[in-house]
Amino acid sequence: PQHGNTTKPYSHDPSASTPASSQQNGNTPHDQNGSSCVVDKKKGRHAGAGHKSILQSDALYQYVLETSVYPRENPYQRELREITEKHPWNLMTTPPDEGQFLMLLMKLINAKNTMELGVYTGYSLLSTALALPDDGKIIAMDINRENYELGAPVIEKAGLSHKVDFREGLILPQLDEMLLEERNLGFFDFIFVDADKDNYVKYHERLIKLVKVGGVIGYDNTLWNGSLVAPEDAPYPKYICHYRPFVLELNRVLAGDKRIEISQVPIGDGLTLCRRIK
Ligand code: SAM
Ligand code: CA
Repeated sequence: PQHGNTTKPYSHDPSASTPASSQQNGNTPHDQNGSSCVVDKKKGRHAGAGHKSILQSDALYQYVLETSVYPRENPYQRELREITEKHPWNLMTTPPDEGQFLMLLMKLINAKNTMELGVYTGYSLLSTALALPDDGKIIAMDINRENYELGAPVIEKAGLSHKVDFREGLILPQLDEMLLEERNLGFFDFIFVDADKDNYVKYHERLIKLVKVGGVIGYDNTLWNGSLVAPEDAPYPKYICHYRPFVLELNRVLAGDKRIEISQVPIGDGLTLCRRIK
């Protein structure tokens, strides 16, 4: 897809934050490249090691939302969620359970200097801003300012604008520019990546230098609607099929990267947390 095309959703980021409950369970037989193949009954099956997924139904996901998430959602988050629900590309938003997870994570790692790649209307941005200390900062990059401006008034009303440094434009050249400045190296406590999946591997090579040792990079949508283990001809939307090989490649690269410790967290559409160790 062409950068700069803002007429269609997913022209930049086909990120689909479908509730985990409505994703495929990952029990379709496939080879390691994710293409359709004959079942290998012996190879690495999960049967004896617990459930194939924690959230096995929409009802269970709804229960989580109603019990643990909505009652504790900040009123500004709720307002932004409701604004975003009316937007035609609302599939791209971060779901509220993931927003809650990000907030807790920020506090657990005492994050202060953070970055977000891919803002859309700003649900994850607002969540992060709510969790950071008053002198915390988020450099937030997106090619699309129009969508950011839908959420910006809510961030303003919440009294959090001073934490947000929105930078309009393509991500990659901005990261390259940041790398030229010594003070940015190893500066960030947390970086949330929720943008164009075909560039994630390129982002990773840059972000690993920008995040501090002990800091965390979170790559979003790493389960890609469950499509990673579906047959090639499974009836997914075009954008899912298009970006699928890039997500498979990212997961392979992250799993083999000795500079990080990782955990594939099955929240939202899959969030891979990477802690830099060297
Ligand atoms: N984190 C957001 C949230 O919580 O609502 C969702 C982000 S949305 C899935 C992806 C965003 O990335 C879109 O707003 C899109 O404009 C932006 N994007 C995609 N590719 C980009 C690129 N190469 N440079 C800058 N922004 C990009
Ligand atoms: Ca996402």
